[in-house]
Amino acid sequence: MSDPTYDVVVIGSGPGGYVCAIRAAQLGLSVACVEKDDTFGGTCLNVGCIPSKALLESSELFHKANKEFKKHGILVDPVLDLPTMMKRKDKIVGSLTRGVAGLFQKNGITPYVGLGRFKSAREVEVVGPDGVVTATLQAGAVVIATGSKVAQLRGVAMDGERIFGSTEALALEAVPERLAVIGAGVIGLEMGSVWARLGSKVTVLEYMDKVFPGADVDISAQAQKSFRKLGIKFKLGVAVQSAEVTDGGVVLTYQEGETTETLEVDRVLVSVGRWANTDGLNGEAIGLVTDKRGCVEVDDHWRSNVAGVYAIGDVVKGPMLAHKAEEEGVAVAEILAGKPGHVNFDVIPSVIYTHPEVASVGRTQQQLEEAGVAFRVGRFPFLPNGRAKAMEASDGFVKMLSDATTDELLGVHIIGPLAGELIAECALAMEFGASAEDIARTCHAHPTLSEAVKEAALDANGRVIHF
Ligand code: FAD
Ligand code: NAD
Repeated sequence: MSDPTYDVVVIGSGPGGYVCAIRAAQLGLSVACVEKDDTFGGTCLNVGCIPSKALLESSELFHKANKEFKKHGILVDPVLDLPTMMKRKDKIVGSLTRGVAGLFQKNGITPYVGLGRFKSAREVEVVGPDGVVTATLQAGAVVIATGSKVAQLRGVAMDGERIFGSTEALALEAVPERLAVIGAGVIGLEMGSVWARLGSKVTVLEYMDKVFPGADVDISAQAQKSFRKLGIKFKLGVAVQSAEVTDGGVVLTYQEGETTETLEVDRVLVSVGRWANTDGLNGEAIGLVTDKRGCVEVDDHWRSNVAGVYAIGDVVKGPMLAHKAEEEGVAVAEILAGKPGHVNFDVIPSVIYTHPEVASVGRTQQQLEEAGVAFRVGRFPFLPNGRAKAMEASDGFVKMLSDATTDELLGVHIIGPLAGELIAECALAMEFGASAEDIARTCHAHPTLSEAVKEAALDANGRVIHF
């Protein structure tokens, strides 16, 4: 029997891969998607965005029941049922990953379960768990969407039990009494928040001198205050050197200035970033070029150095975000169908689902200063916002940066309730080249959190009303 032939073979079924496959099929191309794991959806659906958000939601409710319901006149004595919380998370994951299988079927995409491996630039072998090649696919074009994996830290060997990455942190069977988190980035503080809310004493060790080092300077300062309120302790500006598993737990040794210190905990989460993943792809066979961080090198049209081979998502440069991977998936599918695929990298929002939530789009104040761009700042706190007060969620603010001369929006940074939803308006405004005044002159419903966005826009023009 001859090998099956497809216009496009996508390797990896994460948000980059499955969205690319669907868009290509919509445009009339014949498509196969090869996935090494038993379920579709990649890191995002299986062990990333979705399970973490499910646990963030549940743990925030537990925390509110413990600490905040009484402010509303509701008296309860909550008891944690961790197995049920985990089952709810698994159910959500199951329904969404099955949803991707359903979308493949609906769009006529042929799924292959097995490791995708290059035999040549236009031939992809599907390798089963026993190493046997179960199919060889002939491809008009191949899209690498193989994602990323947890970054390792020298001196801190992960055993998956005492010392682990985000995947294990999403499935602990008991609340660790003392949890150390290495890295005050997105995963460290999302997962650190989950376990702190459920009762762990969490200590975060961070190499830089602030949390969320890449965030706008005011946001990271405010976020740190809120995490301290939750009881999370920070050791900033420290370098973890080693971890030793003992009978009682784990002893971390870290350097703080000139001194060497130790910290004893029960469990350690390593969250110092993620690395591009090309394991098992056999890119060497086709001469695929990766950069020094392991990312597949691509040009502005996601073309690798090998003709007909494209790459998208976490395995290429840019922010490691599900929606960035999706946008690239759509763009590549459109390019393969002869259309002009494009992604505006200046307007990719990012959200951190802690409490308060953090969201941003565009450039930070530091980036504008470094680039020598003159800008105005508009600020508005959630404190006087009626909806935020009704929600008992007045911590935080909106910070809007616009061009000093033209008032064009350059960046918006929000820390506060539902910041991740509020940022969508700002991203849309930036996509349309709006000014702060355009937002300020748009009627926003009352009482809504979005009024804080409008007020920050008014403030950028020196005419804030409610503060
Ligand atoms: P992935 O989702 O990693 O998918 C790659 C797929 O390729 C995987 O299914 C893998 O099994 C498969 N694969 C790899 N190699 C092969 C091969 N050789 N053959 C066949 N299959 C292969 N981003 C957000 O935007 N919002 C969030 O809230 C968010 N939360 C996160 C929380 C956590 C804990 C983590 C770890 C990540 C989170 N992310 C979040 C990041 C997000 O998950 C990634 O940016 C996104 O999944 C990248 O999509 P992708 O398609 O490039 O790769
Ligand atoms: P990150 O890059 O967000 O944070 C890593 C942190 O570790 C940084 O603050 C860094 O300074 C610190 N660090 C690095 N080396 C260290 C060391 N030796 N000692 C102490 N600290 C050290 O990475 P992450 O939190 O692992 O997340 C990985 C990726 O997953 C991110 O790129 C993020 O975009 C994505 N993600 C996104 C979301 C979301 O969008 N809500 C959620 C989770 C993950």
